[in-house]
Amino acid sequence: MKYHLVTLGCAKNTVDSMRLEQALRSGRHTAVDEPSEADLLLVNTCGFIDAAKDESVEVVRGLDATRRSDQLLYVVGCMTEIAVDEVRKAVPNVDATFGVEQWDQIAAAIGPADPRYDIPLTTIPVLGQPSAYLKISDGCDRPCTFCIIPTIKGAMHSAPTSRLVAEARMYAAAGARELVLVAQDSTAYAEDEGGRDGLAALLEELSAGVPDVPWIRLMYAYPGRVTPRLAETMAALPNVVPYLDMPLQHGSDAMLRRMKRPTLAKSRQSIDVIRKAMPDVTLRTTFIVGFPGETEAEFKQLLRFVEEQRFDHVGAFTYSPQAGTPAAEYGDQVPEDVKQERYGRLMELAQGISHASNKTMIGREVDILVESREPGESASGEAIVVGRTVRDAPEVDGLALVKGTFPMGTMVRARVDGALPYDLLCTPLASPAVAPAAATKPAARR
Ligand code: SF4
Repeated sequence: MKYHLVTLGCAKNTVDSMRLEQALRSGRHTAVDEPSEADLLLVNTCGFIDAAKDESVEVVRGLDATRRSDQLLYVVGCMTEIAVDEVRKAVPNVDATFGVEQWDQIAAAIGPADPRYDIPLTTIPVLGQPSAYLKISDGCDRPCTFCIIPTIKGAMHSAPTSRLVAEARMYAAAGARELVLVAQDSTAYAEDEGGRDGLAALLEELSAGVPDVPWIRLMYAYPGRVTPRLAETMAALPNVVPYLDMPLQHGSDAMLRRMKRPTLAKSRQSIDVIRKAMPDVTLRTTFIVGFPGETEAEFKQLLRFVEEQRFDHVGAFTYSPQAGTPAAEYGDQVPEDVKQERYGRLMELAQGISHASNKTMIGREVDILVESREPGESASGEAIVVGRTVRDAPEVDGLALVKGTFPMGTMVRARVDGALPYDLLCTPLASPAVAPAAATKPAARR
């Protein structure tokens, strides 16, 4: 059977789609790019916030409106896990719905897997080349009052280390130059099996398992859970990059209490631990503005915290109530215009800090992982390619623009000539003969 899969939502959902594809391909089903060529239309939905739910319904509705009568339509994933009735109500003709992690059931529904046609793992494409996401655990045990994820995904459960190493090797064999470790809370890795410092042990296994992958990047650490062992392990491993994403959500203890998040002292402690072990670490964080009850004074505490810590990258969201979460029931919701105004002030401050941080890079030599498939053109007509340094995670942080034409996946040694608020402008040092990525040593650091 030919299937066309649409994936919505975050990087973690992209990984889920890979698992689904693995199950489908093992059953001899093949992917097609055009919906019109498919026997089965599949939508892997996102239900994280209302806007994501709306988008999911829109996509399903659009496919339903244009499909032929002989094409099946299945809706799967986060939104069908928590709000299957909404999907069914909006698009009653959907042929089947499945919740999260039901990949084998979906494959079984369209035809049993035939082991004779089992396709080796290495033929599965690396999504988002030259980077691949490695989902180390799913689910979450934390009590954050704004978040529906524990309801959708259930209790935290870790993937076995041996499977993760095998998966990492598969990506490396398929050409990945970067592995991005994702989870709802990466620092909880292996706690469900009674492990302590399981994440540090996993990094050691991965680093040794794929020594040719120059960048292993860690996302979604939980404040207060960055142990000295983890920070020192990150610092010591040659292919774990000096970068950490740690969502902190706010800079006021009163707000953090209402969110049921760790205290500011815990946030500061984790930042100190990581900066002590890696003085050149790039720190990314995210904040929620306009959470119920947020006063102007509390918001200013957040601004002061951002100024104090000078995060290299800041992402921000205006609070959006999620049905089924405690915070959605809080009485003192912040008006939308106030949320937007605070969001603007926070991002203006963060942008200035990001620009200053980028300016410190001018004149330095960096390794840039080329991401663009085709070269583009600068304003002055020069050929340029787009990539990233270790300071930037895929999809969420800035870019590095490099003069010249280099194939995707190449690691280019370059000098930083200019700094924009989020992006770097660079000139290659060894042009035009730049070693292909496979021959490149791990990025120099520290
Ligand atoms: S740690 Fe993250 S996923 Fe878990 S409940 Fe809090 S916000 Fe949600």
